[in-house]
Amino acid sequence: MTDPAHDLNVTKLSKSFATAGGTLEILREVELSLKSGDAAAITGPSGSGKSTLLYIIGLLDVPTSGDVTLDGERPHQLSAAQQARYRSRNIGFIFQDHHLLPQCTVLENVLLPTLALAQTNREAEVRAVELLRRVGLSERLHHRPAQLSGGERQRVAVCRALINQPALLLADEPTGNLDRQTAETVGTLLLEIAKEQQAILICVTHSQELAARFPRRLELLDGRLVES
Ligand code: ADP
Ligand code: MG
Repeated sequence: MTDPAHDLNVTKLSKSFATAGGTLEILREVELSLKSGDAAAITGPSGSGKSTLLYIIGLLDVPTSGDVTLDGERPHQLSAAQQARYRSRNIGFIFQDHHLLPQCTVLENVLLPTLALAQTNREAEVRAVELLRRVGLSERLHHRPAQLSGGERQRVAVCRALINQPALLLADEPTGNLDRQTAETVGTLLLEIAKEQQAILICVTHSQELAARFPRRLELLDGRLVES
């Protein structure tokens, strides 16, 4: 069964922060449209607002004005409790630092996002084991994060982000802490699996090498998102 197509629309999205020196306008009427199977890389100088944009799209921050819609719905309008569930179901987020729970095994970490949804443990576990096999970690299911290399931890984070087959896969500098070879492996997996699952992938990166592998490349400059 194929998942229904999804579409993401970011419209006139602006974000300002109040600082001691006045208002800091970080995002200015950002526009972005992506659909299932699309993969976009976002580059831009440090401090240009890349993380802020990704966090707003991922419901981890709120816009000052403008809209984010996924399949015509406006998740920012939901209550906090509804948003938590919405995130678990629709959004996978990968951070620069894996953010795995140290006391949980690899398998348990990947299963975390399924706990918020009413699913049988068995089905979720089958999916988790398959995803971990896909990224080459079949031998690591019962290890803890401290027993893994940086690249292995980030591959676990990729699986955790994908476990609920989210419409949106958001990655903030996912290879920023990895050596070149490992970064390439993680980048490849991210692109391949997002495509297989027909997710909408948005990846913020400093790496021109990684960005070059994305079909769509965008740059955040002076608060505006432009094709690069
Ligand atoms: P990038 O990810 O492109 O490096 P960020 O989105 O992290 O940039 O930050 C953009 C700008 O917004 C930076 O100048 C940062 O200091 C500022 N900023 C981010 N979050 C906050 C906040 N909560 N309060 C005030 N300023 C912030
Ligand atoms: Mg950032």
